[in-house]
Amino acid sequence: MSETLSTGAVIGILGGGQLGRMLSVAASRLGFRTHIFEPGANPPAGHVADQVTTAGYDDVAALKAFAETVDVITYEFENIPTEALDVLESLRPIRPGREALRVSQDRLVEKEFLQGLGLTTAPFADVSDMASLQAAIAEIGTPAILKTRRFGYDGKGQARIMEPGDAEQALADMAGAPAILEGFVDFGFEISVIAARGVTGEVACFDPGENVHEGGILRTTTVPAKLRPMMQADAVLMAGKILNALDYVGVMGVELFVTPKGLVVNEIAPRVHNSGHWTQQGCTVDQFEQHIRAVVGWPLGDGARYADVVMENLIGDDMDRVDAIAKEPGASLHLYGKADVKPGRKMGHVNRIVARD
Ligand code: AMP
Repeated sequence: MSETLSTGAVIGILGGGQLGRMLSVAASRLGFRTHIFEPGANPPAGHVADQVTTAGYDDVAALKAFAETVDVITYEFENIPTEALDVLESLRPIRPGREALRVSQDRLVEKEFLQGLGLTTAPFADVSDMASLQAAIAEIGTPAILKTRRFGYDGKGQARIMEPGDAEQALADMAGAPAILEGFVDFGFEISVIAARGVTGEVACFDPGENVHEGGILRTTTVPAKLRPMMQADAVLMAGKILNALDYVGVMGVELFVTPKGLVVNEIAPRVHNSGHWTQQGCTVDQFEQHIRAVVGWPLGDGARYADVVMENLIGDDMDRVDAIAKEPGASLHLYGKADVKPGRKMGHVNRIVARD
């Protein structure tokens, strides 16, 4: 493909959840068409996309047929099997590229990459069995968190080790999966920077948002974050460094802990991010349009923030409040069209514009 796609081109999206859905809407607003690849039936993105392929990531024929109908491939989640990526990449460009996926699919590789850039992370050690866990606890101390290296999300695949005696249970919780032990970061609060990089290498960041989690799941993101200006500049510079090092094209979520000594990078997500949903009501160009612009080779849009916003996730039974929220002034509802309400399931979100004094 040429670096830049014209209106009418087809964007292939791996994953049909709410992020794929909002990417499809943004693509459609710019005149592009989308084709979703998703193993599950009736995906949220399928309601708004031009085409859906329902097949597994091990279905080579379906992957090839999908790739042949699209001009560029992007994705809404990072845990795409390597074999599927090999098939797709032989046929069409994947943006963001493979290096971003390789780094973000494995917490150990990710931490080594970040430290290699001179960024601060939690202290960490590779854990594969009880001996290496005990060595890691001796080195890092407690409290600490044991996390699976791969496939963790929303706090899943994690066990806290408050004292050395917790080691056995924590290792059992990993169910034999390779893991890393992370030292506990004593942070004041958490922020994320949603950053974008275009094909020409231009970088733009949305204002950092302040995140509150409950039970490992993001509850709210508030902008502006109560960050000192120096730290705000640091956060943006750190995100730029990461994107440039990966020769990244697209939007990335960078999660950071704010400590009295400075910013600590928690993790990176090579995709649009839940903590960037506030941009839909806070900016002229939101994270979804920014991602589409980047992957089709357009210039990045104006992501300057013009409003103060609180984004609240609607999780499980929060759906009971939808009628009341629909009547609230200053509230913008985004529902994902998921048929079944389940505890812990992200059903939608609301962006509330906060009046400025
Ligand atoms: P993660 O899946 O790595 O984003 O972790 C989920 C949540 O657990 C984070 O948002 C933090 O609130 C908490 N957490 C993860 N790692 C650490 C750490 N090393 N120190 C303190 N809290 C952590």
